[in-house]
Amino acid sequence: MAWACSGSSNSELINNMAAAGLITSDRVKRAMLEVDRAHYAPARAYEDSPQPIGHSATISAPHMHASACESLLPFIKPGSRVLDIGSGSGYLTQVLASLVTPGGSVIGIDHIQPLVDMAQSNTAKSDAGRKMLQDGTITYVKGDGRKGWPQGAPYDAIHVGAAAAEHHEALVDQLKTPGRLFVPVEEGYVQHIYVVDKKQDGRVERKKLYAVQYVPLTDAPSGHS
Ligand code: SAH
Repeated sequence: MAWACSGSSNSELINNMAAAGLITSDRVKRAMLEVDRAHYAPARAYEDSPQPIGHSATISAPHMHASACESLLPFIKPGSRVLDIGSGSGYLTQVLASLVTPGGSVIGIDHIQPLVDMAQSNTAKSDAGRKMLQDGTITYVKGDGRKGWPQGAPYDAIHVGAAAAEHHEALVDQLKTPGRLFVPVEEGYVQHIYVVDKKQDGRVERKKLYAVQYVPLTDAPSGHS
């Protein structure tokens, strides 16, 4: 049971998750050990649960972040270009950045400016994060993630951290061939994770994985557009 995983430090949390089978890849484990979740979660940072971060957003549970990284893993290698849509706290953006270092880059996009600012200052709490901001490994931008971020395309991998109301073609368009998109999609009252692959020959293949509960990918609240 995911909730049973907690620790008194970041390394205890990550090691307990790995022992419980919630992280199976060594690369993902190392990347999650490198990023202190306490820099991103305002409370209960070392518990495997989502936490509110303000503006109706949440930092997702660590087991969801691990699962997203593991799904995208063949496309997030040193040198890869990644887009993290709904970057919120910035936690996953830095974990992804660690996976694509050296040589890669990650753009985190959110439609609420105070969250973009928060992600920036959270990442700046560590020496490693500050360096990633300075050398352009991580860039945070404000925008409507449903349109992707064409300025940085094409991407090896796109992660969406909020539930989409539909399959947004713009995101698949901004993938490299090959490239992979990880996206929760709303279907009635249920959301499912989809992994969408753009194959070497341009064919698009969608795989439906498990049911999830994410904050919706929406219009910006008034005052934030
Ligand atoms: N990966 C983040 C998840 C944050 S919650 C984390 O773990 O911290 C989902 C985020 O999606 C929120 O920050 C919300 O502001 C953002 N979001 C919702 N709709 C969006 C849109 N249309 N464009 C960009 N960001 C959006």
